[in-house]
Amino acid sequence: MTFADLDLVPPLLEALDVLGYQTPTPVQEKAIPAVLAGGDLMAAAQTGTGKTASFALPLLQRLAHDPEPTASNSTRALILVPTRELAQQVCDSFIAYGQFLVLRSYAVYGGVSINPQMMKLRKGVDILVATPGRLLDLHRQNAVRFDQVRTLVLDEADRMLDLGFARELNALFALLPKQRQTLLFSATFSDAIRSMANQLLKKPLSIET
Ligand code: AMP
Repeated sequence: MTFADLDLVPPLLEALDVLGYQTPTPVQEKAIPAVLAGGDLMAAAQTGTGKTASFALPLLQRLAHDPEPTASNSTRALILVPTRELAQQVCDSFIAYGQFLVLRSYAVYGGVSINPQMMKLRKGVDILVATPGRLLDLHRQNAVRFDQVRTLVLDEADRMLDLGFARELNALFALLPKQRQTLLFSATFSDAIRSMANQLLKKPLSIET
């Protein structure tokens, strides 16, 4: 199995070549076709399995093929993560995989000044990676709107709950368009995660790696 077998477009294959990725990991083999097809997904995947590329590659491809431009203070794909380190890391992955596409990725997180983030969001970003609390703050200050969000990714969902983000997550879910693709990644599947999946996902493909 190669990345070309997964129907990824040439600009993505070229980026993977630059990065030296030769073959897809098991989670990538399963997730990439499902996400490209527009379906919902829940995946049990630890860090180090290649989970980031398993959602970033197909999302970049779908965004590149969607002619709808991202409006001011808007975003088309929202990636929620538990920590600022992961936010920056996931955003860096989108930038690396998307280096031959014209899409903007940006990370916002707490613990740093909100003003530069508000300025950056003015033009809109195609892909926004965010920690839940800071994203809610930005929304309350009208720095970001969610009406164009077509895809929601929850990365390390179990860690987001462990860190006490349940209230923020529920507040965010209520603000997002109902018509969207949702992908949930978690190292473990507790009752709380399963109940979140039941609430958010429509006929998800379930992946265990
Ligand atoms: P992740 O599980 O997303 O944190 O990825 C773990 C590490 O594996 C990252 O450093 C990626 O750059 C790398 N990686 C992901 N997919 C592949 C692949 N198919 N081939 C080689 N390296 C990969």
